[in-house]
Amino acid sequence: MRVPAPARPGGQADTAGRAPAHALDAAETITLLGTDGRTGLTEAEAAARNVHNGLNVLPTGRPTSALGRFFRQFEDPLVYVLLASAAVTLSLGQLVDSSVIFAVVLLNAVVGLLQESRAEHALAALAGMVTTEVRVVRGGAPIRLSAEKLATGDLVLLRAGDKVAADSLLISARTLQIDESALTGEAAPVTKVPGALPRATALADRRNMAHAGTVVTRGEGTAVVVAIGAATELGLINQLMTATGVPTTPLTRKLAGFSRRLSVGIVALAVVLFLVGLLRGYRAGEMFTAAVTMAVGAIPEGLPAAVSIVLAIGVVRMARRGAIVRRLPSVETLGSTTVVCTDKTGTLTTNRMTVTTVFAGGRTHEWAGGDPLPPALRECLLTGVLCNEAQPADGTVAAIGDPTETALLTAAREAGLDIGAERSARPRVDVLPFESGRNLMATVHRTADGRLTGYLKGAPEKVLALCRDQLREDGIGEPLERESQRGTAEALARRGLRVLAFAMFTPAAEAAFPADTPPDGLTLVGFQAMHDPPRPAAVAAVAACRRAGITVKMITGDHGETARAIARNFALTEGEPVVLTGAEIAVTPDDALAGVDVFARVSPEQKLRLVTLLQERGDVVAMTGDGVNDAPALRKADIGIAMGRSGTEVAKEAADMVLANDDFATIEAAVEEGRAVFDNIRKFMAWTLPTNIAEGLVILVAIVLGAQLPMLPVQVLWINMTTAVFLGLALAFEPKETAIMARRPRPPGQALMTADLLRRITLVSVILVAGSFAVFTWQLRTGASVTEARSITVTVFVFAQIAYLFSCRSLDRFRPAGWNPWVLGGVAVMIALQVAILYVPLMNELFHTAPLTVGGWLLVLGLAATTFLIAELDKYLWRPRPRRGPGSPRPSEKGTSAPAPAATRG
Ligand code: ATP
Repeated sequence: MRVPAPARPGGQADTAGRAPAHALDAAETITLLGTDGRTGLTEAEAAARNVHNGLNVLPTGRPTSALGRFFRQFEDPLVYVLLASAAVTLSLGQLVDSSVIFAVVLLNAVVGLLQESRAEHALAALAGMVTTEVRVVRGGAPIRLSAEKLATGDLVLLRAGDKVAADSLLISARTLQIDESALTGEAAPVTKVPGALPRATALADRRNMAHAGTVVTRGEGTAVVVAIGAATELGLINQLMTATGVPTTPLTRKLAGFSRRLSVGIVALAVVLFLVGLLRGYRAGEMFTAAVTMAVGAIPEGLPAAVSIVLAIGVVRMARRGAIVRRLPSVETLGSTTVVCTDKTGTLTTNRMTVTTVFAGGRTHEWAGGDPLPPALRECLLTGVLCNEAQPADGTVAAIGDPTETALLTAAREAGLDIGAERSARPRVDVLPFESGRNLMATVHRTADGRLTGYLKGAPEKVLALCRDQLREDGIGEPLERESQRGTAEALARRGLRVLAFAMFTPAAEAAFPADTPPDGLTLVGFQAMHDPPRPAAVAAVAACRRAGITVKMITGDHGETARAIARNFALTEGEPVVLTGAEIAVTPDDALAGVDVFARVSPEQKLRLVTLLQERGDVVAMTGDGVNDAPALRKADIGIAMGRSGTEVAKEAADMVLANDDFATIEAAVEEGRAVFDNIRKFMAWTLPTNIAEGLVILVAIVLGAQLPMLPVQVLWINMTTAVFLGLALAFEPKETAIMARRPRPPGQALMTADLLRRITLVSVILVAGSFAVFTWQLRTGASVTEARSITVTVFVFAQIAYLFSCRSLDRFRPAGWNPWVLGGVAVMIALQVAILYVPLMNELFHTAPLTVGGWLLVLGLAATTFLIAELDKYLWRPRPRRGPGSPRPSEKGTSAPAPAATRG
């Protein structure tokens, strides 16, 4: 088959002299692109075009080559210092020392490279998980499609909340508005209408085009794709998605800054040490090596890399549980969440609606198959069928559309109505689409005898406000009994049901909704109430959040009473939930608002106000949203959460995290993983800082005291190089602690380095330094040679680090959460290396070591065990006190509560 080339972008005519897309009318373009204005492309044709023209993706920048990345690892002041010192050492003829320093540099680069690519892989895999979805007509049927599969000639359906995925020419539009700021910088949405424009029309004025990268803010329309991928305007302005390496977060930047300052301080200290050594009469060359070793040992060079690897692992673990993180910093923030504001429908509940009760003609109806329907009941069901965008299920195909609407179709069919026949007997001539906020929808139909009838459905209070009459059971109109009807709707809502009201009207003309206003003077036909079962996992997750000191607030578009009933079912609050509706929120002062648990009929602006308010009180707020108008609140929230299945593209774009399954339980899981990320970073710090400090101090103290070095520089470098890689990094893989959701949220803004951590670090540093000197001195006293004494000291140092590693697997508990094969593997490698350095003759020569005696080994094991026990004793002495009872303050009141003990409480 012949595959037409995509139209030329950029507003220029192409080489064949064809006009640019915006200068053509839709019919011409449709012909030109070899497609069909009603049925779109066939699947086969679209597939062929995908092959021929490529996918609808923007070209990505060429990723840096492995070699390039390898050399990038050397772009670090510390590495320059090391290389310089290796050169100096070499020039002094200390071949072994200089090659060990070289090896340290190399190994660091390799490890850095591996970490970086691991983190990048994880993130790249994630990027692929959030795909933009589009709705297109293929072979006459509307389908959802991943945006990259769009082909020129595809017929796309646009509606509020959609992201435009390819440059398209409008065929039809209804109050269509598009936000083109991403492309033109123009902040106000542009109203779009079909119809050819002059060739010279500027990009910002092409009102008949929908461009890739822009978003639909209002209305709906259909369009034909004229350019994809790099050929779109977006592709032209060269918004290349280049691989930029591992993104940084406030935390990684903070830690990188911390290590940099620390490094500078340590290097300065090394210079002083060098001078002190010279004064003390050490030889310059020897002193130089010692000073460099002190610096290399003390600098925690693995810290920034470890943090990014912990973050990357966190992201992957979250993804496995259905939480797709779009912005890396949210991984950190999630762990300190204090309030979760969640939607009801679809997040707490399944959004599988079933009509359970129909109220029409003054009474509640149950019906049995075959019974004739009273006229009012029939009319109520019929309204639900006609004023409805959904397609019914037919044997093989599942129903398509909003669950609220498909539930109405199912109810009507079960009552015996023939949906297809009813719809074709009364073709629709106009529609006022459902919009959140307006909370209703209306349609106009032409009946067989040529008359027009209008149907409307929506939130009871909105519909009742428009009604004047009501339908009697026999189908005759009578004046509306407003209060009684309102009472009926409310009683249904109190049972936790979603209630819709139905009404009829006689339109004056086919176009019945000038300026998008619904008609008034309607006749109320009845109510249908539907049940939406709670998600089982969400019930448990709400309870888990409450145990973890996280407040869960429900924010819903539904009726206040429905929301209250659901909140009660979920045990969202201790006692009876406090509920406010949109109208009440508007007149409630800020202080009173923060204590409310359930917000109903909420407008997007009110969501934004609520987030702002909670944040001002010091809360860390996670908020869900799915509509176009939710974007500001999602951006403002510390963690904006969009629904992967039901959310609009705009919401997903604004969010920090997307829930693959829309389930509230996933939010709880993500918070749990976020807490684990923080834990593991702290565990790594708890281990790496004292070991580094001790490595530096051993040399510093010896030289300042003018004592013999208990470990040679080459030995310290060896320990530094091997333990950081094989021991420390294993903590990044630590499983999360079992009681992780039994503690309160980390106070927002709390530093990583808490008093507890500082104390542990100091304690262990002292043990390591004092232990090294004690062992060394004692060995010399008991007749060991210097080489033997150093060998034992080095081994003690390594084994004490191993023992301490096991202690660091939990900072406040005595038993780690589960098993971590990385720790065991790392320890095994480390022991093997240590045995090699002690027993392989070549290594003995290089590192100035000698085999250990049995007595020596006993000493090593004894001291390692002692280190472990002291660290555990420290845990015991400072263990968290038992939690306060159920009356413990809620996190949103934490400002007034006593300061919580450090974040290590369990
Ligand atoms: P939540 O915020 O809990 O997820 P929601 O987003 O489903 O709720 P909306 O979809 O905004 O809430 O619906 C709000 C109200 O609008 C509903 O309670 C109902 O009364 C009415 N409504 C919902 N869907 C329709 C529809 N298709 N046609 C007419 N009215 C509707």
